[in-house]
Amino acid sequence: MRRTGTNLPKVGQYNRAVVLDQIQLADGISRIEIAQLTGLTPQTVSGIVRRLIDEGIVREDGAGASNGGKPRTRLRVNAGAGLAIGVHFDPYELSCVVVDLLGQPLVTVQRPTPAQAGPEEITEAVARLVDEVLTAAGVQRDQVLGLGLATPGPIDQSLGILVDPPQLPGWSRVPIKEMLAGATGLPVTLDNDATAAAIGERWAGAGRGVADFAYFFFGAGIGGGLILGHQVYRGGSMNAAEFGHTSVRPDGPHCYCGNVGCLESLINPPALEAEARRRLAAGDHAGTTLVAPDHHAIRLAAAAGDPLAAAVIDEAAGWLATAVVNVVNIVDVDLVVLGGHGIRHVEERFRGAVQQALATRPLARRIRTVQVELSPLGPDAAVVGAAALVLHMTYSPQVSELLSL
Ligand SMILES: [Zn+2]
Repeated sequence: MRRTGTNLPKVGQYNRAVVLDQIQLADGISRIEIAQLTGLTPQTVSGIVRRLIDEGIVREDGAGASNGGKPRTRLRVNAGAGLAIGVHFDPYELSCVVVDLLGQPLVTVQRPTPAQAGPEEITEAVARLVDEVLTAAGVQRDQVLGLGLATPGPIDQSLGILVDPPQLPGWSRVPIKEMLAGATGLPVTLDNDATAAAIGERWAGAGRGVADFAYFFFGAGIGGGLILGHQVYRGGSMNAAEFGHTSVRPDGPHCYCGNVGCLESLINPPALEAEARRRLAAGDHAGTTLVAPDHHAIRLAAAAGDPLAAAVIDEAAGWLATAVVNVVNIVDVDLVVLGGHGIRHVEERFRGAVQQALATRPLARRIRTVQVELSPLGPDAAVVGAAALVLHMTYSPQVSELLSL
């Protein structure tokens, strides 16, 4: 992977992040290789690496194989040099994780979200979970760089507030960032759960080192994240990649967002439940064990081969495939990643439908076939992504930071 740095002194912070990014993505890399990959001079790379080693973020790891010449010292991220906490909640689940500098989870805890929980109750529950993961991981609070919070959007990142998220009725302009910082004593970074999950994939999952990928997140709703040219693409109002609100069925239901036939309104948990009820009411009982199914039961039954549940899931996967083809035609990504707790048990059915569509429908398919991968972070994508937010903010190159220098 080639990422170009620059030798202008003004952008020293950016160069440092570009170098650290190369070290983080490689499994051992030499100073010369970093210089070749970034276009930075060997002197610039050496200076940055010396400072990173002095700060304990990077370590030298013996000599790697060389081509007959002098052995080269490999550089690696010192995984234990810093830790980050990730928190994700939506109406269904509340999760908390502590990760190391490589984004690897040390301890993860998941709880059902208390029903109808308000902001104060959630803040208290999060503070208790943070204590729990720190104790379980055996780490001190002062080793933690910060807490990343991933929630259903929309959010106003600059103000640190949730702005009337449709998934969380009653949460109107809640200053959650300030509340959590007060309750935990940690600096808090806030992002919507799909963007957080995409950042997590880039840091520690299927998107490692991939320049252009689209991430589809299945939680309470259907969200998305776009990484273009190694950067999170956020759009003009910070609301890019709302894949769940792209229309895939012109005669479909009206969505709360104002659009018609949105992907989310066709395949989110209530939609799966409604479709199963509709089929049961229509007398479609042959071979099924489902009676009054919730979405967990539908996914479990589909995985076990229940014909009605499988039909519901396959129809949902078909709507998803159409949305994915649209996204690929527009942004021409190399990889599509599917993740989030909303596809638990039926991941392969979804992946199969999307792969089939990508092999036959995008215009550029004869140039190359877009890959589809399930998030290796699985149901933990958002919470690991939330922790990765902290690491990303601290260490990763960001064009916006470069421009504001
Ligand atoms: Zn919509």
